[in-house]
Amino acid sequence: MNRGRLPADISSRHKKIALELGFSSMDVAESYGGLALRTVDQVAVWEQLGRVTNALCWCFSEPHQWMFEACSEAQIKQYVLPLMDGSRKECYAITEAESGSDVVINTTAERCEGGYRINGEKWYVTSANHADYFFLQARLTGSAHAGTDALFFLDMETEGIEVVCTPLFSHTFDHHHPTLRFNNTFIPAANLIGSEGDGMGFTHSWFRRERLMIAARNCGAGARLIEAATEFAKNRRVGGETLMDKQLVQAMLADCVTELWAARLITFEAAAAHDRGEDIKTLHTRCSMAKLYASEAAGRIADRVLQIFGGRGYMRENCAERFSRELRVDRIWEGASEIQRLIIARALAKRGLEEM
Ligand SMILES: Cc1cc2nc3c(=O)[nH]c(=O)nc-3n(C[C@H](O)[C@H](O)[C@H](O)COP(=O)(O)OP(=O)(O)OC[C@H]3O[C@@H](n4cnc5c(N)ncnc54)[C@H](O)[C@@H]3O)c2cc1C
Repeated sequence: MNRGRLPADISSRHKKIALELGFSSMDVAESYGGLALRTVDQVAVWEQLGRVTNALCWCFSEPHQWMFEACSEAQIKQYVLPLMDGSRKECYAITEAESGSDVVINTTAERCEGGYRINGEKWYVTSANHADYFFLQARLTGSAHAGTDALFFLDMETEGIEVVCTPLFSHTFDHHHPTLRFNNTFIPAANLIGSEGDGMGFTHSWFRRERLMIAARNCGAGARLIEAATEFAKNRRVGGETLMDKQLVQAMLADCVTELWAARLITFEAAAAHDRGEDIKTLHTRCSMAKLYASEAAGRIADRVLQIFGGRGYMRENCAERFSRELRVDRIWEGASEIQRLIIARALAKRGLEEM
């Protein structure tokens, strides 16, 4: 079995350091005790966090700004702020067997006395093995807004939640991605986030944030890989000269550095657009462009760097081997590359190049 497990003392040590450094309060207003950092500064932090493998940087959770706009004061107190002090952990359940790229949700939330009954199955629920509550997206039935989506808080300990399976994936993170089934699971009405029908809008807010920070982490991973390959190429001698002296290796490193800079510029400019308060549609497209380019560039960088390391690069102890497996999913989750391309092309068709 290749199931990832981190010793508890290591993960709690990492978490303590992350909380002390304020990583979990970067996107929180000062009125709630947060740091209210600019998006550019947050991207700079996530870029550095992207240098680590094995998802070690997932040791903390962080409230996003949109959560404070979406949630009631009671929900902020019960669910959102405890992410900041590390006392609670969330997971986000949208994807289902039929819906990934396709956003048609089949899990139902049926209105009942005092709340909703949830029935359906959610796939790939990242961190569900550590989380104590879900953000859960479901399609409403039996109410005035039947057919639209809603987002809920759902406590993990609620009756009627079943772990169907915990598949193995290419990476071996301590955070697993199980499939969960909800059998008539009750959610109190107070746990509805925003209003009925708001679900997809909040999920888009989640996507924008995650896509931007995936791009930032990809930049950090790319930088670490290039540094490792440069150091190796300067010292490894083959045929009487270093790898760095060989022009084919130089070409690979030059392409890596050029793509890294392009990824950084696109990502930091998308962050700056947030700080300038640009239109939400523009921000949505910019986040897609950043994730698309940075994740694809990081994949190419990891592949070239592994090649430069030769057999050593294929060893599990080498960061190029680990990143080759771990970066791959960044082209799939939070909207696969093809979906990002569709978002960008649709924005071009609707609003034109100047408005993107
Ligand atoms: C490790 C892991 C963790 C995840 N964590 C979470 C999580 O925490 N919460 C959550 O809700 N989801 C999670 N996901 C789900 C993830 O967001 C989806 O896998 C992703 O959106 C793609 O959906 P899909 O797998 O159903 O692929 P599909 O939708 O079946 O797509 C398959 C392929 O077809 C392509 N495709 C689809 N439509 C088009 C089109 N119109 N044109 C061209 N190509 C197209 C896609 O790009 C993809 O390459 C996770 C996935 C993985 C692998």
